Amino acid sequence: MPGTNLTRAEAEARAAAVTTDSYDIELDLTTSETTFRSTSTVRFSATPGESTFIDLIAPSVLSITLNGEALDPATHFVDSRISLPALAAENELTVVADCAYMNTGEGLHRFVDPEDGEVYLYSQFEVADTRRVYAVFEQPDLKASFAFTVTAPDHWHVLSNSPSEKTALEGTVSNAGIDRGVARWTFSPTTRIPCYVTAIVAGPYHEVQGSVESNKGTLSANVYCRKALAEFLDADVILDDTQKGFSFYEEKFQMDYPFEKYDQIFVPEFNAGAMENAGCVTFLEDYVFRSKTAQARVERRTITVLHELAHMWFGDLVTMKWWNDLWLNESFAEFMSTLCAAEVTKYSDAWVTFNSLEKSWAYRQDQLPSTHPIMAEIRDLEDVEVNFDGITYAKGASVLRQLVAYVGQDEFFAGVQEYFRKHHHSNAVLTDLLVELEAASGRDLAAWSDVWLQKAGVTTLRPVIEEDSNGDIAAFSVLQEVPEEWPTQRPHRIGIGAYDVVTDEAGDATVKRTSYVEVDLDGARTEIAEMVGIRRPALILVNDGDLAYAKVRLDEVSLATAVEHVGSFTDAMPRSMVLSAAWDMTRDGEMPARQFADLVLGCIATEDQSTVVLTLLRQLDTALTLYAAPSASEEATRAAAASLWSLALGAEPGSDNQLQFVRAYASLASSDAQLDTLQAIIDGKIQLEGLPLDADLTWDLLTALAAGGRVGEVAIELQLTKDATASGQRRAATARAAIATPEAKQATWDALVNAAEGEDMPNALQFAATQGFSIVHDTALLEPFVDQYFGMLRRVYKDKTNEMATNLIEGLYPVELAGRVPDLQDRAFAWLEANADAHDALKRLVREGSDGVRRALVNQAADAAYEG
Ligand SMILES: [Zn+2]
Repeated sequence: MPGTNLTRAEAEARAAAVTTDSYDIELDLTTSETTFRSTSTVRFSATPGESTFIDLIAPSVLSITLNGEALDPATHFVDSRISLPALAAENELTVVADCAYMNTGEGLHRFVDPEDGEVYLYSQFEVADTRRVYAVFEQPDLKASFAFTVTAPDHWHVLSNSPSEKTALEGTVSNAGIDRGVARWTFSPTTRIPCYVTAIVAGPYHEVQGSVESNKGTLSANVYCRKALAEFLDADVILDDTQKGFSFYEEKFQMDYPFEKYDQIFVPEFNAGAMENAGCVTFLEDYVFRSKTAQARVERRTITVLHELAHMWFGDLVTMKWWNDLWLNESFAEFMSTLCAAEVTKYSDAWVTFNSLEKSWAYRQDQLPSTHPIMAEIRDLEDVEVNFDGITYAKGASVLRQLVAYVGQDEFFAGVQEYFRKHHHSNAVLTDLLVELEAASGRDLAAWSDVWLQKAGVTTLRPVIEEDSNGDIAAFSVLQEVPEEWPTQRPHRIGIGAYDVVTDEAGDATVKRTSYVEVDLDGARTEIAEMVGIRRPALILVNDGDLAYAKVRLDEVSLATAVEHVGSFTDAMPRSMVLSAAWDMTRDGEMPARQFADLVLGCIATEDQSTVVLTLLRQLDTALTLYAAPSASEEATRAAAASLWSLALGAEPGSDNQLQFVRAYASLASSDAQLDTLQAIIDGKIQLEGLPLDADLTWDLLTALAAGGRVGEVAIELQLTKDATASGQRRAATARAAIATPEAKQATWDALVNAAEGEDMPNALQFAATQGFSIVHDTALLEPFVDQYFGMLRRVYKDKTNEMATNLIEGLYPVELAGRVPDLQDRAFAWLEANADAHDALKRLVREGSDGVRRALVNQAADAAYEG
């Protein structure tokens, strides 16, 4: 990716030289199927006599006019930059270019629906892909007002950040084989926003008109998706979430929603969950559920709707100055969306979901060799591209939650309100927020910021309990263990809960909290006087309530209670905390993987939190296929599959658990009898009451059968004729990549990695095939690709766009071969040594993959002696 980078130093120099005023951007979307005409007129002031550059990635620049004078594109347009010499105090620049439609989800993405040939477009600009659509000073602190004009087929909807006027034009354009009229959409200029939240969405999208009540009055709030998904779009649910968010945020922020309307569009082939374009939010279309889906996904969509809405204030109205404050942007949105969901939606257990999902993500990321302080040093764009990670989102949000507890929620919002009042329509840095929080709360945040934001790593809290001869607690302390590389002791305010097992007359056990204290911890060992003298309970939970960001351990007695009774907690939060602790112990080699599997299978039947079930089933899969000793893995996996099938048969018909158990069963099934069962479900010979054999479940089963060596290309093609949709194509790509033959694996690899220029799969198909590639029962199928993996890294990183390269390098790392290929780690080390000159971001991805192997080897050794 050389030639498209931008360093922080360059951005600072440019912001010192240039102040942007406004952009007029004309896009003609009728010029061809591969490019569109882009005319960008930029008005900006500058230090007279200075020179600078503007960013553009385009196959051809037709003209550059600076202050009435033509500049030759042949000499001025080099390396994705247009040089601008000898600036005046006030400048006007017009650049006319043909820009390329993308199939990578970056810039202006073009998707053709296989069902009807219709074209759908959407833009995705963060981090730095605005320049793929128009000439722009691509950095977040050069805010401006943007006015778009778009020419497109007249049967389309064309959306941007502002409302528009549509006028018919002369002439026609051929679209999906039909001659269509042409129209022009003129959008009113935006307020001052950063370029990365500008947007264009265009195509024959299905529209549901809606509105929200705001302090400003009734605002238009429409919901869109592809026509093919219209019947599944539950716009009323999305609008209900949206309205709750509007009311909650306007009240908490004491600042009106900053834009004129709020459109939400579910777009095809999207790389992330959603994007906070000002007033024009785009979402992954998988959030329109065409099949029965786990409730966890539905809840996640609500959180995502609320997350993007929070960005309208934090991110779009007040914007980070540079990408080093990306964490604050994302953490704020993540914290606010969870708080809002917990307080005003039906997801009152949103913090349990947060514990199960976000915190496990944060702890995982924070233990990688590449972990970094929340306040990362972002030297250039390539640094930030790999930083949309568990530190930036999940650890940041965890720490922010803890900060809110520390300063007080009312004080927190008082500070935030002042921050919005001072910096709206402008840019800010972390200190600007901390200053307001200090003023509102009277607390000094310098020390807090130092240990939490400037230093990386997660500590482990381990209780040490001594009993006297009467069974009372004689001494109680909590050790804070720090990783060697990040030896920072931190202060924590935590809850400690005592739990006992109560058995009723019918013999049913429940685990109930009998006492709770809140204490401050600091340093390597803290004595907890409050716990001394009480009768030793069956289970003691450190960090009860989950305010602290720290891994926790269970003492031996508590662990034994947990293993026997974890399903019997009456409260969801401690149950989730205990399971998280067990998973951390497993990941750290302190609990055998097969013991963790037994624990999960023993308690999951009664788990009623969908996200917890989803998380546990994923962890179960990792434990059995990666962390179990290789000699025991196959048998343990079959046994777990058998248990999951019993659980599925025993689950309430139509329940969320039933669906999740069947899916997990399919992904672990490997014996002949188990594969026969999958085939029988597909054939309709086995039917589970309440479980529809819909499109996505069918693909799950078919993919499992492909991985099991039962079906190949023919069965997949046949299913694709029954589900000839874009979603079906994606599912087929996964199933095809899972076919258990060396030839099929090589064909998938070649399509992913060795495609001729211009023949690359679109992003969504690439992601789907990458997923399927690593689904194997016999890991020997992957062995030939170790050489090919290390051989392709430099080329793929250089030739592909960031999203595409990262997906391949992460997704194809042969971690499944840990413990199966003896020199796997040596290969990674040798590559790193031989490629010391590779970009840090690429080396980071390889180090992370290699660390996954290291952890697997440690855990396989820890599991080897487990007897069950
Ligand atoms: Zn976000």
